[in-house]
Amino acid sequence: MRCHPLLPSLTLLLFPVVSCQDSGTDSNPVALVRYAQSREVMGTFAEVMAFAADPDTAKKAVEAAYDRLADVNRRMSDYSDDSEIGRLNRQPAGEETVVSPETFFVLQKAMEVAKASGGAFDPTCRPLVQRWKHAGKENRLPEPHAIAATMQHVGWQKVTLDSHDRSVAVSVEGVQVDLGGIAKGYALDLAAAALKEAGAQSGLVNVGGDVIALGSQSGGRPWRIGMKHPFQPGLFRTLAVCDRAVATSGVQQRFQVIDGKRYSHIVDPRTGQPAEQAPAVTVIAPDGLTADAWATVFSVLTVEEGRAMIESLPEIEAMWIWGSADAVQTAESSGFAPYVAAD
Ligand code: ADP
Ligand code: MG
Repeated sequence: MRCHPLLPSLTLLLFPVVSCQDSGTDSNPVALVRYAQSREVMGTFAEVMAFAADPDTAKKAVEAAYDRLADVNRRMSDYSDDSEIGRLNRQPAGEETVVSPETFFVLQKAMEVAKASGGAFDPTCRPLVQRWKHAGKENRLPEPHAIAATMQHVGWQKVTLDSHDRSVAVSVEGVQVDLGGIAKGYALDLAAAALKEAGAQSGLVNVGGDVIALGSQSGGRPWRIGMKHPFQPGLFRTLAVCDRAVATSGVQQRFQVIDGKRYSHIVDPRTGQPAEQAPAVTVIAPDGLTADAWATVFSVLTVEEGRAMIESLPEIEAMWIWGSADAVQTAESSGFAPYVAAD
C-alpha cells in the first residue's frame, strides 16, 4: 500500500514533563494499570495504550480501539473494492450510493476542509494520486495532456452529499474519492472514544505517526510526543499535550522517485502536480480528523499561505520544518509554543 516503507514521524515518550492540570491529582494519585499493544493496521504500524483501574478493563479498551481502527479502514479504504469508498468509486455518475453515518461524516468534513482550504485539500484527488503513482512506477513524468485529462475528474464540487438519506453522487464520470488524507485522523478519534467508553481513564493511539492523546498521564501530567527530526535521526522537538491529536505530513514520509527526484504522495489538486512545498508539517488540534486533514492542507500550501490561514482556524496549531540538515528552517503558528516541552 505504501510507495515506501512508512517511517512514523512521531514517537511516544512516556515521561511526564509539566503538569496539565492545576491541582488535585498529584496529591491524590489513583493507581492505574497500563496496557499497550502494537499491531499492523490501516497499512501501517499502530500502537494503542490504555490506563484503567484494572488490567481487564485496560485490555478490553485497547481491543475496542483496534476494532474501531479496523472498522474505519474496512469502510473507507480506497484500496479495497469492498469498502464503501470502493463501491462509491465504481458508481456511475448521477447515481446515488448510500453510505454509513461514519463515512458520510468524514465525507462532509472532507468537503468542509476542501472549501476552507481553497481546494488545497480535495477528497476527489484519487485520479491524480493514481496518475502520479503510475508515473512513479514507470519512472516517467506524466505528459501535460494526461494531467489535464485527469484534472477533468478532480474537484470536490463534483460530489453531492445528501444528508437526508446519507447518499453520495458524483456529477462527472470518473470522479473518485480518496480519504487517505483524513480517514486516519478520524480513526484516531473513534479509537480514543472507544478507549473511553470501555472504561480507560486515559490513553494514547498512534497510527503511523499520527497520535491522539486521551486525557493526561497519571498525576495530570501531559503526554509527551516526540516529533522526529525530518533530516537526521533523533527528535526535533518534544510536545506535551493533553486531549489533543498530533498529525504530521510531508514528503519525507511517502514519496515516489522519478528520474532521481522525489515527488510527494500529496498532490496539489489546483495544479495537478505533486505538492511542491511538502515541508514536514506537524499539526496539533482537538481531534484527529482535524489534525490529519490540515496537515495535508499545509503540505500543499506554501508556508506563508499556511501561516496566514491558520490564524483564523481556532485551536489548530502547526509547525513547519523545511530546508536541509545543514540549514533547517522552521515556522510555527502563534499558539504552538506552549505545546513544546521545555527540555
Ligand atoms: P499520511 O499521514 O498517510 O502520510 P497524509 O495525511 O499526509 O497521509 O495524506 C496523504 C494522503 O492523502 C495521500 O496518500 C492521498 O491518499 C491523499 N491526498 C493526497 N493529496 C491530497 C490532497 N491534496 N487533498 C486530500 N487528500 C490528499
Ligand atoms: Mg493528512
